Amino acid sequence: MPPVTEATDLVYLDNNATTPVAEEVLAAMTPYYRELFGNAHAVHSLGRRSHDAVEDARAEVALLLGTEASEVIFTSCGTEGNALVIRGLADRMPSRRKIVTTAVEHPSILSLLRALQGAGRIELDVVPVDASGALDLERMQASIDGTTLLVTVMLAQNETGVLHPIPRIADLAHARGALLHVDAVQAAGKVPLSMARLGADFLTISGHKFHAPKGVGALAIRKGLTLQPLWYGGGQELGLRSGTEPVPSIVGLATAARLAREALATYDRVRILRDRLEHGILTRLDETSVNGSGQPRLANTTNISFHDTYADEIVRALDHAGICVSAGAACNSGQVEPSTTMKAMGNPLRIAMGAVRFSLSRYTTAAEVDRAVEAAVHAVPPVRQQLQSAV
Ligand code: PLP
Repeated sequence: MPPVTEATDLVYLDNNATTPVAEEVLAAMTPYYRELFGNAHAVHSLGRRSHDAVEDARAEVALLLGTEASEVIFTSCGTEGNALVIRGLADRMPSRRKIVTTAVEHPSILSLLRALQGAGRIELDVVPVDASGALDLERMQASIDGTTLLVTVMLAQNETGVLHPIPRIADLAHARGALLHVDAVQAAGKVPLSMARLGADFLTISGHKFHAPKGVGALAIRKGLTLQPLWYGGGQELGLRSGTEPVPSIVGLATAARLAREALATYDRVRILRDRLEHGILTRLDETSVNGSGQPRLANTTNISFHDTYADEIVRALDHAGICVSAGAACNSGQVEPSTTMKAMGNPLRIAMGAVRFSLSRYTTAAEVDRAVEAAVHAVPPVRQQLQSAV
């Protein structure tokens, strides 16, 4: 059921940033805020009800991840899951020091790795991508050696939607005795997941990307592997994530996981709408191109460069027309520059600066896509004109 939003006139195409909570999710959560408020570790009946709800949720989330319930722990978000794997392994296995990653990872990976490298805790190798966002696999193979502790690669890139060849990377990592962590935050609910098929030893997801509430996520950890916890306490979640479980959020995550899994069979509808949006903009506006085209991509994402513009100007103009999208370019201390991902892809500045991400959800309609195309067709030329006359 589509989430109930205030009857605003907004077209929300920023679902890779976050999603609205699905109606069924809210409904499933509510009793756990009201009458079923027990601590999941209390012995009395209310506690047992919460405990059972958490264990049912674990089984449901495991189905989405294609793994077993005993391999799933609940976290607060994707950032936490990523940090738990990286810090938890670096602390536990100091004899292997090298971590291999890619130039287009989320900051929750790249910034943490750079901080650990700066502190002398790890050696880091960052594998580049080409102009279409494809990973240099030869370089990755050469980089993984007998000292490599972990290879960490996202399944789907958050700005472009480009999908990385995880099973091949798993083979490269395992051949040298390294472990593989997959950041599947953007992929969950958009592509079928299976820990075994991917060859993942660890896999991170985050609820707010697929219509669960913010503040809840999950980490799958292959049986037999252990991590050093980030903090200590009551020993919840296999001792890896102490703290009273947020039962309503966990129930919400599981409900969203079930809905997402069931909707995968019809997810091609989203691809058709994404292609309609892309085609509409590319055919009606000159000097536009898709970042990541030619690569396998998430069905819901398109990253379109409006050449010779600034993405934040386009985002503002579209916002004015009631269309919510986001910019690949970030404005840092007054200096506008392309995002890390756009820089890593190495496109000319006139293309990279104008990169705008449109991300759909399974609730997006054809009418909304058409409105977004019309808005872009009207909003972009004046922005271009204004920028040209300012030069
Ligand atoms: N990894 C990827 C690929 C993401 O896109 C994001 C969020 O955008 C994260 C990790 C962080 O997730 P969270 O916002 O739940 O901390």
